[in-house]
Amino acid sequence: VDLIERAARDIINSRNAIALTGAGISVESGIEAFRGSQGLWAKYDPEEYATIQAFIDNPEKVWNMFREVLETIINAKPNPAHYSLAELENMGYLKRVITQNVDGLHQEAGNKNVIEFHGNNRELVCLRCNSRYSMNSFNWMEVIPRCKCTSILKPAVVFFGEPIPWDALTTAQSDARKCDLIMVIGTSAVVSPAREMPVIAKQNGAKVIEINIEETSLTYTTSDYIIKGSSGIVLPGIVNKIKEIQ
Ligand SMILES: [Zn+2]
Repeated sequence: VDLIERAARDIINSRNAIALTGAGISVESGIEAFRGSQGLWAKYDPEEYATIQAFIDNPEKVWNMFREVLETIINAKPNPAHYSLAELENMGYLKRVITQNVDGLHQEAGNKNVIEFHGNNRELVCLRCNSRYSMNSFNWMEVIPRCKCTSILKPAVVFFGEPIPWDALTTAQSDARKCDLIMVIGTSAVVSPAREMPVIAKQNGAKVIEINIEETSLTYTTSDYIIKGSSGIVLPGIVNKIKEIQ
């Protein structure tokens, strides 16, 4: 059976499909997965740079790492995988994208219903007084942004040791219970709470379609099937097949 066609038919027959995405979907946009051998965490020890305590102890040091990350992310553009998910939402097939990425590329591609588990790179927050600012209102490449209360601002991404935003988590859990199909794209879903989403969906009777380069811990436990390949090729293939069938 052609798995692209199988996925296309499953999506057409679904009433409430959602997608869970991870770093793999943005690799073709030039953003290396943080955990890979070329990833950020190979260069910067996350214990030293990406925990909330590291930021509290030495925000200047963390900001130097962050500038490098933000520069890559800000110059990145959506790839065909992002545009395919936006198209599926426009066609009425995709109700939500739940992403572990902080790059904002789903929204840039045109998706409206996006949950960001790990925050975003568009805002800055003050840990002292909870004020929020737009990233654009600071020249953060030159000067470390400070709040009106003088505290150094933190990017609105979720650091290790920080909780997942509560509304993101509860909405995603509700989506996972209600959906009848979930696509797991570009993620091995080993990090909670992302890993719970396909499991909750499966327990509630949803189909789980995995789109990954390699098999993951979900493949033989949770996924109905895996389409092996890069999401930038597989997803446009599925969208084209849907257009052909419907
Ligand atoms: Zn403040």
